[in-house]
Amino acid sequence: MGKKPFAFLRKSVPAPIVIAVSSGIVVCSFIGLSVPMFVAAYSEKVASYEEVVAASMTEETLRVTGHSGSEEAGFRYETLPGILKYDGPRLAQSMPIGTKEAWLSWMRRNRNDNPVFLEERWEWAQNLVITSELGRPEDVRAFLLTPREHFVRAQNKGLEYADTWLPIGYGATITDPDVVSMMTSTLNVNPGDKVLEIGTGSGYQSAILSYLTKDVYTIEIIKPLFIETDAIYKDLEKSFPSYSVINRKLGDGYYGWEEYAPFDKIIVTCSIDHIPPPLLKQLNSGGIMVLPLGPPSRQYIMEIVKSEDEDGSITLSRRDVYNGVSVKFIPFRDEKGSSYSSPSVENTQ
Ligand code: SAH
Repeated sequence: MGKKPFAFLRKSVPAPIVIAVSSGIVVCSFIGLSVPMFVAAYSEKVASYEEVVAASMTEETLRVTGHSGSEEAGFRYETLPGILKYDGPRLAQSMPIGTKEAWLSWMRRNRNDNPVFLEERWEWAQNLVITSELGRPEDVRAFLLTPREHFVRAQNKGLEYADTWLPIGYGATITDPDVVSMMTSTLNVNPGDKVLEIGTGSGYQSAILSYLTKDVYTIEIIKPLFIETDAIYKDLEKSFPSYSVINRKLGDGYYGWEEYAPFDKIIVTCSIDHIPPPLLKQLNSGGIMVLPLGPPSRQYIMEIVKSEDEDGSITLSRRDVYNGVSVKFIPFRDEKGSSYSSPSVENTQ
């Protein structure tokens, strides 16, 4: 089943308005209605993001690295589970994905999934391949192995495989599967990569990552959400040992996880208008960071590749993975609940 061009745009964003920029033309979608119109050039904004990134690279801002906000606020909670019986990339590799029948039969023999969801998960993953948001076979396998039904919360029963973001309580959301797949593909995770996620939320993104590498770290700032998702992982570990490699921390992800740095890949799942310097510092040379970058009203999913020369100078290359299509994420907040992004005149919601 194919998707209409740009159909995913209307589903990717937790707001009724989606803006797509293509050759200077913007398509505004309002609950399914598309109205083309002309707007000011988007390139100016990219330039201002570049300035923010450049400013982030000064010695002064890099000095904040190492500060742990969570300890200062008086709470620190980490779960570093022992590896039970890791069934990550090797297990994924052995799973046939050539036909639905072969896959279903393998899943029924090898996995503890609720069979009710299997067919739906297969069709859904095929759509992500058709839209090119999932490309590499290892990413397709990771999506096929991850039981989204355990991460979507009870109030959204029936929507486990819907192409939409969903609320998970505490003002947070489980990200739209289109965007999760695009961000995961962009990260290009290889076995052995050390990956850090900022914004554990439902736990779904890190569950996917655990089928790509056994070195997964994730940080969540909302305590009750952290505890809830931690309990989900602990429960699932009995049937899905991969989740035992997901190291969880309650705290402010702006400062990364210095103890386990550097990371080969960093995925930020809350929105911010600059690259947090501590995260950039904790990214390995040659490493990739994927984040929703932009003002509070809308962001662009950016791939940042860091390369560090012998003399210590850092070069960043940036790519807007949706090529001008904006998304809207939950804000990146500090422990007082304030957004790390500067208030913007664009933020009218
Ligand atoms: N990756 C999640 C998406 C969750 S939405 C998933 O797969 O479900 C974004 C999450 O980022 C929210 O849970 C929010 O609480 C969290 N967040 C916001 N600011 C944060 C911060 N400073 N540190 C860590 N997490 C943060």
